[in-house]
Amino acid sequence: MNNLKLNNSNIVSYIEDIFERRGNEIYAGEDVTVSEHMLQSGTIAKKRGLSNEIVVASLLHDIGHFNSEFGMFTMDDKKDRFHETMGAKILKPFFPQIIVDCVYFHVSAKRYLTAIDKDYESKLSRASKHSLNLQGGPMNPKEVEKFEKNPNLNAIIQVRYIDDEGKDPEMDTFPFSYFTPLIEETIHNSERMIID
Ligand code: FE
Repeated sequence: MNNLKLNNSNIVSYIEDIFERRGNEIYAGEDVTVSEHMLQSGTIAKKRGLSNEIVVASLLHDIGHFNSEFGMFTMDDKKDRFHETMGAKILKPFFPQIIVDCVYFHVSAKRYLTAIDKDYESKLSRASKHSLNLQGGPMNPKEVEKFEKNPNLNAIIQVRYIDDEGKDPEMDTFPFSYFTPLIEETIHNSERMIID
């Protein structure tokens, strides 16, 4: 990743380029592409008037599917795996912790919600139900207790619900460029937090 010389000034245009170049790739088992799914998620969050952090986390939550773009690809990888871990690693140097947490825990949040809400699983898409089992199934009570200690729990859950909704082949979205200033603002705020 360091070889790519990514920094706070070029990370946003780098991500935009990935959205554009790889926008036609099909989202694993869903009716929309990964890029469409992420743009839909960002658009839903923005239209609900949620904070910039939630909007940006929703927009970027699946960036880990493109881990090979960030020099995180090894010859053993048959495809992009553990995309939530990869996504958090990609974003951590630039973005505030709340965004990194929303990305890192968006899969755990599905395991959490299936454990605490018996109706949640029935609302998931087929692909999401399928991956739930591969991801460990519903959390056990100990895992639930630990997960609830995360100070960013509410934000993580919000992003998870938005993730579940952003899979509509008919939905119109804002273009990536609409989000650019919001993304830059969260990066800027993150810098200030480190300096303060
Ligand atoms: Fe997603």
